Amino acid sequence: MRVETKDLTFTYSPKSKALSVQALNGISLIIESGDFYGIIGQTGSGKSTFVQHLNGLIKLGKNCGSIKIGEFDLTDKKCNLKGLRAKVGMVFQYPEYQLFAETVKDDVAFALKNFYSDLNDSQIEEKVKDAVQLVGLDYDRIKDKSPFELSGGQKRRVAIAGVIVARPEILVLDEPVAGLDPQGKKEFIELLHRLHGDVVKTIVIVSHDMDLVVENCNRLAVFSKGEITLEGTPKQVFSNKVKILALGLALPTTAYLSNCLADAGKGIECDLTVDGFINAVVEKFGGECL
Ligand code: ADP
Ligand code: MG
Repeated sequence: MRVETKDLTFTYSPKSKALSVQALNGISLIIESGDFYGIIGQTGSGKSTFVQHLNGLIKLGKNCGSIKIGEFDLTDKKCNLKGLRAKVGMVFQYPEYQLFAETVKDDVAFALKNFYSDLNDSQIEEKVKDAVQLVGLDYDRIKDKSPFELSGGQKRRVAIAGVIVARPEILVLDEPVAGLDPQGKKEFIELLHRLHGDVVKTIVIVSHDMDLVVENCNRLAVFSKGEITLEGTPKQVFSNKVKILALGLALPTTAYLSNCLADAGKGIECDLTVDGFINAVVEKFGGECL
């Protein structure tokens, strides 16, 4: 399913002069099926407001642009929002707060029962078990536990299981690694890669972490004051060093080091992944740098 938004605008509290905030101002964006798409930008730039439009959590206003996701046209008042939400799964920031049921099993089953009311108990259990195992947890050990007894990392995995259990095609994650330690972050990203392709076709991730997006995303959009300032591959986006820094964003480590080398007259060509960077350095300098 392809996501295409055109001239999307959104204002919070539009009727109040004192409170109104224009959060989105003409967002036109295409996310292709299969993308691992990154959305970056300073706090308050509109990232969360944008992604909440993608599963209809924030309703598209009249004359506020258009959103098409596969066969779903959100400008159509009769758009099947329940069908859309089964296809576009949303994991919020601090997903552990999405958990609410008494047991892990019930929590993960919730979305499934909501979307597919015709499933019987054993079909539900089979799908729940599958989802819990897909996120790397031992179903038999965890199924009857309270979600609140789990570690932070486990809670996030259960929250993801509760979304992928409905087998969405697109998984949207709003700042999913915020607050995780480096090892937790690494494991979480590995999980996303395991899911990407076989379980969910497309991943859309909002993140503050430039190293993370450059390493994992094939395309990026940079949001600023409700607009898209830059869009393209990580290499294209981060080649705009001056703009990135002016937006108050950092360069990924590989882009920073590539710039240092270029400033020293020893520029290299690479895709800004760590492996790409190392290979380019070794190729250019050979044994000199080891
Ligand atoms: P980001 O996710 O990039 O931090 P948001 O989409 O959360 O940005 O916010 C965009 C703008 O909308 C900000 O100015 C923010 O203060 C405002 N905003 C976000 N949520 C609300 C809300 N529920 N009510 C009013 N204003 C909001
Ligand atoms: Mg946000």
